[in-house]
Amino acid sequence: MKITAARVIVCAPGRNFVTLKIETDAGIHGIGDATVNGRELSVVSYLQDHVVPTLIGRDAHAIEDIWQMLYRGCYWRRGPITMAAIAAVDVALWDIKAKAAGMPLYQLLGGASRSRMLCYPHARGTDLPALLERVAALRGEGYRAIRLQCGIPGIGDSYGVKRQGPGLPEEQVWDIGKYMRFAPKMLQAVRDAVGEEVELLHDTHHRITPIDAARLAKEVEPVNLYWLEDLVPAENQEVYRLIRQHSVTRLALGEIFNSIHDCRELIQEQLIDFIRVTPVHAGGITQVRRIADFAALWQIRTACHGAGDMSPVTFGAALHFGRWVPNFGIQEFAGHPREAAEVFRCAWSYDGDGHLLSGEAPGHGVEIDEAAAERFPYRRSYLGNVRLEDGTAWNY
Ligand SMILES: [Mg+2]
Repeated sequence: MKITAARVIVCAPGRNFVTLKIETDAGIHGIGDATVNGRELSVVSYLQDHVVPTLIGRDAHAIEDIWQMLYRGCYWRRGPITMAAIAAVDVALWDIKAKAAGMPLYQLLGGASRSRMLCYPHARGTDLPALLERVAALRGEGYRAIRLQCGIPGIGDSYGVKRQGPGLPEEQVWDIGKYMRFAPKMLQAVRDAVGEEVELLHDTHHRITPIDAARLAKEVEPVNLYWLEDLVPAENQEVYRLIRQHSVTRLALGEIFNSIHDCRELIQEQLIDFIRVTPVHAGGITQVRRIADFAALWQIRTACHGAGDMSPVTFGAALHFGRWVPNFGIQEFAGHPREAAEVFRCAWSYDGDGHLLSGEAPGHGVEIDEAAAERFPYRRSYLGNVRLEDGTAWNY
């Protein structure tokens, strides 16, 4: 089965998505997600100008060989743009192989380890009462695990409270002290409101310092969080040793990693409990399954990144991966803009009881309507710029 064509489809049904469609001489096609939020067009060029010409005429079944060729052959290994491009090819080829087999993708990975995947949505509130109201609404929709993000008194905003619109980057203000005084009380207040049965998660989004991270993780131990996520940037992974020395709060990290080498130390030193890599940003199913197998040696569980910029296609891939992976933990499920449903047809679904279902369609079960995609042209958009109150540039 030869690859006869591959093209990149850029659309913005509520937000930008980059999709690669690969066609074969058997009449079977597959799609993969290549979206890198805020830098979308760089992956479009990487694919169109450099990758697609090398794919034509190759055996569509040779997933591993094509992965290795794209990874080794480019010489400039790793990096978010390269790995998102490789991921798009990889996921599209897995989609083709599973469709050719007439099987849902999870069957090719080794079959189902579970029937449904625990997921968590985001509860956002500009203040604590608004957050509690949102948590109650999500409980009413059946969710058993919920991520909590709340505006901080004196800042008026915080990570994950406001949605970013199109246009140039918005400036956001951040203050570590105000966050550190408020976050433990906010998390405890939600725990008091919902009781012990609900899994609660919180994302610091790389915005505090190592010693503050250690203090926060220690201070919130009584809340019994499912996890604290992205406490500090992980370029220097030694800082996670400091956090671990002070706390038994579960830690999650890795949504911006794109290589198994980005998490090798963290995993083999057991510095985290959940690895957050997802197919689109970590080289597709081919590499994510390797990372998961490696993490399983230390009983570290998976938790695929599932913010709104992971397209419905990545959810298809992640949910088939989640259906199979023995050390599954949880799947983030931030949801997509309403218009995305006009472009992407998905076999996966929410079961109304806190879990996602992969569906049983052959492949990963997600299709793109290219005519509908044309109705939603690309709009330049960015993540925000964060500054401390004195103007110092900080981590988004
Ligand atoms: Mg996150």
